[in-house]
Amino acid sequence: MYSRRKFIRHCGGAGCFLIAHGLSAYGNESGPVEARYYQKLDNRKIKCELCPRECVIDDLERGYCGVRENRDGTYYSLVYGLPCSVHADPVEKKPLFHFLPSTRAFSIATVGCNVMCKFCQNWEISQTRPEQIQSYDIPPSMVVKLAQENRCASIAYTYTEPVIFTEYMYDTAELGRKAGVKSVMISNGYINPEPMMDLCGVLDGVKIDLKAYTERFYKELVSGELRPVLDTLVLLRDKKMWTEIVYLVIPGQNDDPGELKSMCNWIAKELGPDTPLHFSRFHPQYRLKNIPATPVSTLKKARQIGLDNGLFFVYIGNVPGDPGESTYCPDCGIILIQRIGYQVVKINLKQGSCPACGRKIAGVW
Ligand code: SF4
Repeated sequence: MYSRRKFIRHCGGAGCFLIAHGLSAYGNESGPVEARYYQKLDNRKIKCELCPRECVIDDLERGYCGVRENRDGTYYSLVYGLPCSVHADPVEKKPLFHFLPSTRAFSIATVGCNVMCKFCQNWEISQTRPEQIQSYDIPPSMVVKLAQENRCASIAYTYTEPVIFTEYMYDTAELGRKAGVKSVMISNGYINPEPMMDLCGVLDGVKIDLKAYTERFYKELVSGELRPVLDTLVLLRDKKMWTEIVYLVIPGQNDDPGELKSMCNWIAKELGPDTPLHFSRFHPQYRLKNIPATPVSTLKKARQIGLDNGLFFVYIGNVPGDPGESTYCPDCGIILIQRIGYQVVKINLKQGSCPACGRKIAGVW
């Protein structure tokens, strides 16, 4: 059970937004709304079609993600308008490096997730149920208002897995767009094509966690599948959605140079060499406390594999101060955006192009 003190700490002081606006804990305006993307079956059963797990659910039962419930043959989202985490983050923390650098993203999450990564950083909120954590009543219109008041250029759906609160995400992003606030989804990409296509109509950027390039890893360490995630990436390419990929490098699990090479080749060929790829450092946590942190040398090798196999923008993440955090011009090599951790030190772009050689740099600037 989350105590209030722990909750506020987790939010990084998000309570200030909530208290300042007199928002009550645990829902007046928000609450169960009918879910989208499901099919009614015989005997009041339903089949959820939101993610590739496609849970078939009896009356009064919930799907695998624990936040969607069958009530008398109608399926409901239990977390609409009820975030448990709220914070204004640098967009670099998502990480999105080619998306409005040095701006803030108003970040929200509800509880729940549709996979179970043994290395989850946010397991206290992702692997739990709505009634086990205190949430706040922040309907979509209020999220947009808070984002504007806190000078955030975007709203990020993040921390847990936004696929499982897709109704809340969609409605918020739609209102945000009307108000001139962009939306970015920070996701595992484990979603069916129809809801993803709908989301493409209201989102401005996506970050996908590509957790490995083998089905074995997805089965044993994620309780998911690789194929649907690759399909999502291809769909995002087809919809011309700005997309960046994060790959958490876990020693002995997904750091084989051959696997990394195959993945980088696939990204360069299928998604294009302009797709930013972030190799991020693993730290022991949750159910993988027995594996040591990723050596920085492994991350540097991974970055070089990406660059050698056709990718233009390959980053090192979770190693503050490493030169691999910055953006370089693929043609002339000068620093375009210098970063230390989540902080942008210098932006050296001229209308989205390299000021020295004029090469256009892919991104949302
Ligand atoms: S979104 Fe949840 S209920 Fe729906 S298929 Fe995925 S895990 Fe199952």
